[in-house]
Amino acid sequence: MSEFSLELSEDQLQLQKWVHDFAEEVIRPAAPEWDRREETPWPILEQAAAIGLYGWEFLAEIMMNDPTGLSTPVAMEELFWGDAGIGMAIMGSGLAAAGIVASGTSDQVLEWVPQCYGTADDIKLGAFAASEPDAGSDVAAYRTRAVYDEASDEWVLNGVKTWITNGGIANIHVVVAVVDPDLGSSGQASFIVPPNTPGLSMGQKFSKHGIRASHTAEVVLDDVRIPGRCLLGSKERLDARLARVREGKPNDRQAAMQTFEATRPTVAAQAIGIARAAYEYSLEYAKARVAFGKPIIMNQSIAFMLADIATEIDAARLLTHRAAWLGKQKKFANAEGSMAKLKAGRVAVWSTERAMQILGGYGYVTDHPVERWHRDAKIYDIFEGTEQIQQLLVARAISGMRIE
Ligand SMILES: Cc1cc2nc3c(=O)[nH]c(=O)nc-3n(C[C@H](O)[C@H](O)[C@H](O)COP(=O)(O)OP(=O)(O)OC[C@H]3O[C@@H](n4cnc5c(N)ncnc54)[C@H](O)[C@@H]3O)c2cc1C
Repeated sequence: MSEFSLELSEDQLQLQKWVHDFAEEVIRPAAPEWDRREETPWPILEQAAAIGLYGWEFLAEIMMNDPTGLSTPVAMEELFWGDAGIGMAIMGSGLAAAGIVASGTSDQVLEWVPQCYGTADDIKLGAFAASEPDAGSDVAAYRTRAVYDEASDEWVLNGVKTWITNGGIANIHVVVAVVDPDLGSSGQASFIVPPNTPGLSMGQKFSKHGIRASHTAEVVLDDVRIPGRCLLGSKERLDARLARVREGKPNDRQAAMQTFEATRPTVAAQAIGIARAAYEYSLEYAKARVAFGKPIIMNQSIAFMLADIATEIDAARLLTHRAAWLGKQKKFANAEGSMAKLKAGRVAVWSTERAMQILGGYGYVTDHPVERWHRDAKIYDIFEGTEQIQQLLVARAISGMRIE
């Protein structure tokens, strides 16, 4: 058992400063423009790739070479402190990479994850396509079908995916599809759709409330034929898993669920980055803004609001770092990853709203970034499992019962 400490290591402090500097010098100044344009900020991705911040090596480094699990949330908080829309444009490919790591063989990870990023001179994107128009939280209700064509050793995919980050503009799409419709979520598998595969196209591109620099769109799959080897995890393993499920035995998709529980602290840390941005900004504003002859922070009602915001952010960060550590040690007991994501999403929405209150009219207009941060924060109650789905996961974990 290692000695208990909440201190970051020297390496983690350096990582924190490195990401913070990029966030402050490159991301912050660019944020209003890309929020307005609602487009993928390619020039910022290029700058991030040039310094090694966009790329699979960066993710591998912070995720693999860190026994504490804290490096990833530390880096995420700084990046999203810069701007959540641009942060998501940089991190969106990581969703695809996580999907490949969760279900793929090591050969598949080596082949496909780098293609989700390309190189600094030729940047590519990855997309993870699970959600559908009629099935978001209810993952057992996906309808996109994958049918195996034995004659050609190909899988044929048909269906519509929606809300997909980098959907339709990605080099690599990781698609979750139904192989056996009788088995609910246990009858699903994940597939790689390689670059330029005929039949995959972008449907509607969504105009969003927040994180507008991150591209979100429908992905239409119309008789998409992919080689047999694009099934993540191999046909033999899939057949064996389906046979086990049909016999009522436990299946290894539980392992994939553990992987997603372990990615939740990463998402929570992003929300904390937004909350901290709003906290710091509103604290400085409250010290400088004078009303009734004194700085507004001299009123307890304003100072206590800031005290509450600081306390809530620290509480969310502690939950997040605990979950990241537990995830690394494979010691989740009560869905602590979900607890962290639940808390951090709420704290981000609440803190950014309070920060707007502290700025008064200035909080409501685009001259100041606080209204943007508030718009950005709301997605953290919705994606990667809504607030209610996180509650459901925690409720099931603490009760050991199948709460509906
Ligand atoms: C900007 C953005 C980016 C996204 N990126 C991706 C992506 O890259 N890949 C991807 O696959 N998906 C992505 N999503 C989809 C996202 O994960 C879903 O929107 C989310 O899971 C919720 O699904 P839904 O929108 O269908 O809502 P629903 O599932 O229809 O939920 C609607 C409401 O009902 C509640 N609800 C549903 N079921 C229950 C229940 N059992 N108990 C209590 N309450 C319940 C929900 O909490 C919610 O409040 C993205 C979404 C957005 C908006």
